[in-house]
Order: sequence, then structure tokens, then C-alpha cells
Amino acid sequence: MSEFILSPSFGLSLPRQADKEQDLIIIGGGPAGLTAALYGARAAADPLVLMGEAVGGQAATTTEIENYPGFPDGVGGMALAQQMQSHAERFGAKIEFDTVTSVDLKTYPFQVNTRIAQYTAKSIVVTTGSSPRRLGVPGEDKFRARGVSYCATCDGYFFKDKSIVVVGGGNSAIDESLFLTRLAKEITIVHRRDTLRADPILQERIFQEPKVKFVWDTVVEEILGDQEANAVRIRNLKTDEVKTLETDGVFIYIGHIPNTGLFKGQIELTPDGYIVTDRRQRTSVPGVFAAGDVQDPVFRQIVTAAGTGSAAAIEAIRFLDEQKHKEKTK
Ligand code: NAP
Repeated sequence: MSEFILSPSFGLSLPRQADKEQDLIIIGGGPAGLTAALYGARAAADPLVLMGEAVGGQAATTTEIENYPGFPDGVGGMALAQQMQSHAERFGAKIEFDTVTSVDLKTYPFQVNTRIAQYTAKSIVVTTGSSPRRLGVPGEDKFRARGVSYCATCDGYFFKDKSIVVVGGGNSAIDESLFLTRLAKEITIVHRRDTLRADPILQERIFQEPKVKFVWDTVVEEILGDQEANAVRIRNLKTDEVKTLETDGVFIYIGHIPNTGLFKGQIELTPDGYIVTDRRQRTSVPGVFAAGDVQDPVFRQIVTAAGTGSAAAIEAIRFLDEQKHKEKTK
């Protein structure tokens, strides 16, 4: 089982020396990064996207996207990500499937180091997104990819005609449970409260699903198993009753944490670890902009990620133009 879908064009190529000095580097290749790349490319800023190892970020792992405008019949997450990639490439954006290992934002031009190369950049747009939050209970690590998953689109097929526990009550938990109803025999949603956080339209759909039942006011305290996960130990928060629930798989959707480890100590972060941006997507470091989920604890939609990605690129281009002007008038 895998959380990531590798791009068909996955592969690393060593950049030439001339490629290493970049005007604009975009770190991350989800909707925010690919939109920033499109805007950067159309402004002839020759953006380089350091994508990590998979296209599309979390959006690409979503089965069906129904709320991205222009697709009244919905669109697959991976299909949308690939379209965004082709769109940016058509205007000249360069995309590398390479992972950034460190950055130095205290020098200028900025330093960006990857698994295989070292770049300098006059401006950076950070779009590193967020990752699924872990439950942090015994058994979660041990049975990861052996019954524990964070991505129904990636791993759901392994649970065809099986019993599944889903943890969480937000849009992701309900969206993914709806996807799993196509495959699983039965789904038990374990939620720590007695009402869902998910949008009303998703609630309406899930409550109509005969395969789905709910265990309310309850948390998972341990994932049990032998070679593979085969049960969860759950506690009712109101009665304190502890039970063991047999299951073939556990899908965890309890929110996300921003991917900002690379920037700690170099850019201002919120106490929750999100990058602080102003209304023009500027961070605390002039020339470094951020967009998408890495700076958004509130909306976290594909369309808002794309919107902030375009704004960040527009601002980065303005910044580059100002730098050029300053150099000329020195
Ligand atoms: P979310 O909205 O933050 O929901 C997280 C859920 O997990 C909540 O129900 C929360 O419970 C529960 N939870 C958090 N910590 C927990 C813990 N330690 N133990 C047990 N339960 C815990 O996160 P999300 O569902 O991943 O969604 C993230 C963002 O993406 C949201 O803005 C969402 O709207 C968006 N999204 C949108 C769509 C769509 O539009 N179709 C689809 C997927 C995601 P409480 O409710 O008690 O806090």
C-alpha cells in the first residue's frame, strides 16, 4: 500500500550548471504550486517546480472532486493534477521530481538544496502543503501499510469486501468513507463527538448509506493485530466504556499538519506550524511567498490553494522586477 501515486514521468535528472541559478523556484507541486508555475511561466519568469516525488499533492489522492469550478460532472484528483501540470509545462514551467532537503533563506540569492542538486533562487514560492495528522496511538506505526492507511483512493482496493474502521468526522473522513462504500463490506466511522464536522451535503449522503454505521463520542486508543491490523481498542468518552472492535483496516482522517519543517527558524510560523502570510502571500522573508495549505488552516480547498498560488506568483514576479530595477539603478 502506498500514500503516494508516482507520476509516470518519475525520474531524476541532474541539472546543468546554468540551470542551477534560478529566478523563481516553487517548492511543492500541488494545486498551489502548479498554479504558481503557470502564472510564473506566463510572465516569462522561467519557474522551476521542485515537486517532490509525486504530482498533485493531496488533491491527487482525492477520488472525485466536485467543487472545483468548471467541472460540473466532477473530476478525478489525479486527472486534475495532471492537467494542471501539462498546463504549466505548456507555457514553459520546468518540473523536477526532486525533493528539497534544506533551504537557506538567510543568504541572498536564497539557497535551495535537493536530493541531487543545489540551486540558488532570487525568489521562492513555498507550496509544500500539509500531511495527514496521525492518531499517535500504539499500533499505528506498526501496522502502517499493513491495515492502517491515510488514503482510501490509494489503498481502498485492498479492502474489497472487507470491514473497515474510519476515524474522524470532517469532510475527508466522510468523503473517503463514501468512496470506500464502493468496495468495503461494511464501514464503521468512529468519531470523538456526536455530530459530524463535514459539510451538510456529505452528511446527507453518508447517513443514507446502508453499509455505514457510526460509533459516536468514541476514540481509538490502540490498533491491534498480528501480522496485519485486525482490531481497534476504542473508548467511549462519555461512559468510559472500553471495547474491542474487529476490523480488516483502519483509515485515519483526523486533519492535517503543515509541512514546514524545512523553514523552521527561518520564516515566521504560527504556533500550529503554518507559514504566516499577509494578504499578498508575502512571508516574513522578503522574496519568499507561500500559498496553499501550508499557510491556510481555514479553507484548505483546491480552489483556494490555486487562488493563493496565482497571487504568490504575481507577487514573486513583482519582487523580481523590483530587484532587477534596483540592480540597474545601482
Ligand atoms: P478537519 O476538517 O479538521 O476534520 C478533522 C476531524 O478529525 C474532525 O472531525 C475532528 O473532530 C477529528 N479529529 C481531530 N483530531 C482528532 C483526534 N486526535 N482523535 C480523533 N478525532 C480527531 O480535517 P479534514 O477532514 O482532513 O479536512 C481538512 C480540510 O480539507 C477541511 O477544510 C475540509 O473542508 C477540506 N476538505 C474538503 C473536502 C470537500 O470539499 N469535499 C474534502 C476533503 C477535505 P472534531 O470534529 O471533534 O474536531
